[in-house]
Amino acid sequence: MIQMYIPLNFLGVIYREIKQSLTDLDKMFLLLEKEREVRDAPGAQPLAGRDATVRFEDVSFAYEPARPILKHVSFEIPAGKTVAVVGPSGSGKSTLARLLYRFYDVQEGRIVIGGEDIRHVTQASVRQAIGIVPQDTVLFNDTIEYNIAYGRPGASHDEVEAAARAARIHDFISSTPKGYQTMVGERGLKLSGGEKQRVAIARTLLKNPPILIFDEATSALDSANERAIQAELKSAAQNKTTLVIAHRLSTVVDAHEILVLEGGVIVERGTHLQLLARDGRYAQMWALQQIEAAEPVL
Ligand code: ADP
Ligand code: MG
Repeated sequence: MIQMYIPLNFLGVIYREIKQSLTDLDKMFLLLEKEREVRDAPGAQPLAGRDATVRFEDVSFAYEPARPILKHVSFEIPAGKTVAVVGPSGSGKSTLARLLYRFYDVQEGRIVIGGEDIRHVTQASVRQAIGIVPQDTVLFNDTIEYNIAYGRPGASHDEVEAAARAARIHDFISSTPKGYQTMVGERGLKLSGGEKQRVAIARTLLKNPPILIFDEATSALDSANERAIQAELKSAAQNKTTLVIAHRLSTVVDAHEILVLEGGVIVERGTHLQLLARDGRYAQMWALQQIEAAEPVL
């Protein structure tokens, strides 16, 4: 029994690590069917998709029972609007994204899309409705073309290339010997964090779903690329229901509502101007970033 315990536990840890960084888990779930934590309810129907309003209703969640991560979180993203989440690292921001994408089910409260509890519909239909650019992207061991087209199977090469251009990754792809047919991933060409992030952005632009999640989507990019891609993301988010987790506050000023998350609790909420006027945590973070932005780069 003891001999068995260590390797199994070890596998559990690795699985958790991978699970966190992977967006497209479907392939892996086929391999690890038994590990799947989220299952369709018997007879679950696809999301009707009447409207793309997203609501977190009094959501509490813990990865481990002894350690609550989110505590009574409620907010609404009206269809077509953007809600931004800011807050210190470890406050639970990415957990919000993982719950909406239904990597895990909530333990209290519920998450609804267009009035439907996402636990009562098929998870495939929930994931179909959502495009997510995660903090860390893991690519498939396949071509760049495949990795981008995965966002919309059956997309033409021109569509893949247009998405790659918008995500500012086309020039890089063209510079590789086999271009779009270059193999990437662990067994192919290794991409930098920023390059992987741009592949994930291209995939999501191509997918063009009604709901978008950007989890610090440009955090690994240099500032010139970041500015260029921010403009693309902004236009992609136009009229989409969007959850933006931001590391740079300049990207959230136009949000319909900004949530400040600390220790799994929403401690402040409002528009940029309301939060500045409140002169609390958000105003402090804003002032700090203004100072950092003004400092000369050495
Ligand atoms: P943020 O995105 O705000 O930095 P996260 O949502 O990633 O924060 O994490 C919130 C907390 O949950 C952190 O303390 C983190 O260590 C913990 N956590 C994240 N994933 C897991 C997991 N799979 N198992 C246990 N704890 C986790
Ligand atoms: Mg995070």
